[in-house]
Amino acid sequence: MDAVVATLYLKRGRDKPVRRRHPWIFSGAIARVDGRPDAGDLVDVAAAEGDWLGRAYYNPHSQIRGRILTWDPEELVDEAFWHRRLSRAITARDALVTPPQSDAYRLCYAEADGLPGLVVDRYGDFLVLQSLTAGIERRKTLLVDLLRRLLRPAGIVERSDTAARRKEGLPRLRQVIWGQAPPAEHLVTQTGYRCLVDLMAGHKTGLYLDQAVNRTLVCRPETCAGRSVLNVFSYTGGFALPAAAAGAVQILNLDSSVPALELAERNVALNTPGRVQDEYLAGDAFQVLRDFREQGRQFDLIILDPPKFAHQRGDVDRACRGYKDLNWLACQLLPAGGLLATFSCSGLVEAALFQKVIFGAGLDAGRELHILQTFTQSPDHPILLTFPESAYLKGLLCRVW
Ligand code: SAH
Repeated sequence: MDAVVATLYLKRGRDKPVRRRHPWIFSGAIARVDGRPDAGDLVDVAAAEGDWLGRAYYNPHSQIRGRILTWDPEELVDEAFWHRRLSRAITARDALVTPPQSDAYRLCYAEADGLPGLVVDRYGDFLVLQSLTAGIERRKTLLVDLLRRLLRPAGIVERSDTAARRKEGLPRLRQVIWGQAPPAEHLVTQTGYRCLVDLMAGHKTGLYLDQAVNRTLVCRPETCAGRSVLNVFSYTGGFALPAAAAGAVQILNLDSSVPALELAERNVALNTPGRVQDEYLAGDAFQVLRDFREQGRQFDLIILDPPKFAHQRGDVDRACRGYKDLNWLACQLLPAGGLLATFSCSGLVEAALFQKVIFGAGLDAGRELHILQTFTQSPDHPILLTFPESAYLKGLLCRVW
């Protein structure tokens, strides 16, 4: 059994976030450590006055020294604990996804599911796991074993190849951790659309699962039928699939990645065969949108779904300038009454700030914008109220006059 080997005593007055169930203990909040815990060890967390606050796993190499696993002094962090947490996360998804419609979705969203540092996505018969912390790394064999027993997958891929691992002192890893290797082009279904995905080399764990619901909200017959669509940052065609199904007359997919565009074209053909009118353009969005403006090109619906621009607090200003530039350009490519669906997945750029940026972009472009709908991440990426960092994706559907 996993024993608690030390106690972290917080500085006076630094206990409030923990009492309010925020799971992170920053190095600056710790007054002293009683014991000599190693990376991944279990520790108790106590207030300066000595009150027991929670039980966490520890990492001396990370600014986030501890991540709380339980606020219940009676709860042991043993195999049954991990089994309970995983089962709860998996069961919660049953109410969110209808099996033939979607067999690709997030099963476990780390802190938000009470499993700090662990992401598990389902892609049909395969699972993709990300171990983001030393605490999870230490228990990976157990977690893989529990996932096998709970879900009986054909294989489990590990995509622990994110930059976040460096902050924990862990190397990047990309491997088949158990069972069969997935086919290079693995076929899954997302909200009714068939989709080829490369689980070993695709972005993130293969797909941007967090946009699943938004794609069908943005791309409907009302917004797409008989219209031209500019799908900027298309990746493997996430938004193109419902746009084609909804009757878009032409879709121009733009991305900097050629392999992503090739897969996008095949994915569109799988779902809506015979479309010869669409374009797949490799290039830098900032440059291509400028070129389109010079050429006077227009589109009825423009989707902007850029990658994360702000990775740390110091990036926020530059990120906002990037969002403003893109949205300012997009406004100039829309006719009066055209639609702009614009997103940001930078958690550090909060929804209110993002809205301000779009306000500025519209103003500078000399256009009037109405917000028709607001978006957040799909519900398989639940937002834990006590952990605002779990909210990161925001979007607006705007009519541009
Ligand atoms: N809309 C997609 C997800 C987009 S993720 C979906 O629904 O699945 C962001 C994408 O932006 C990635 O595919 C990445 O290759 C691309 N990208 C990053 N920087 C870019 C740039 N400067 N110009 C064009 N594409 C870029």
